[in-house]
Amino acid sequence: MRVAELIDPISRWWDREFILRSFHREEVEAIMRVPLSCRYTLDTLFWLAEKSECGKVLWKLKVPTKIKVFGWRACCNILSTRINLTRKRIKEDNRCEACKTEPKTEVHALWNYGVAQDIWADCSIRLQKCCGGHDDVLQLMEDLITRLSTEELELFIVQAWFIWHQRNSLTQGKQVQALGVLNKRAKDYMEEFRRAQTRLSINSTI
Ligand SMILES: [Zn+2]
Repeated sequence: MRVAELIDPISRWWDREFILRSFHREEVEAIMRVPLSCRYTLDTLFWLAEKSECGKVLWKLKVPTKIKVFGWRACCNILSTRINLTRKRIKEDNRCEACKTEPKTEVHALWNYGVAQDIWADCSIRLQKCCGGHDDVLQLMEDLITRLSTEELELFIVQAWFIWHQRNSLTQGKQVQALGVLNKRAKDYMEEFRRAQTRLSINSTI
């Protein structure tokens, strides 16, 4: 499948119906949010949707949909993509707002940057401070898939989601939570989500 096939020739915008038929529900959401001008990103999106093992594993995780979409966007390096095309392009500073030394990339924000590393080191799952050197989140995910159980992967993606929000609060000058609290919140969040899922399945069988 090529990107061009997904574009309506008349409106010159996404052919929504066709995309809905061809992709996973969550993928549709992620795809439609990418401006058509971002061809490189789109190629990654389609590759991830069609070929990558990582994409398949990600959609099967039992975590809330918004977190799966977050994970997918992280793997495609489009977490911070500006989607407002009408706004005049402002030359962005590519440095990380927190450490001001490293380039601002998804893998840096979620994994390599100091605070994120402290959070991962404090985590009960087998995510060690020493493992680094990944070029991007996709590479990191592929590595983790081979090493973690499904439950650990679920906790990883939820934790990454919390880190991302914590980081955004930090750069906006808002109050942030202590690291230990953040780890506990991710765990509680997953436990609550699993309990709710169990309740739902019990109710549907009565
Ligand atoms: Zn940084």
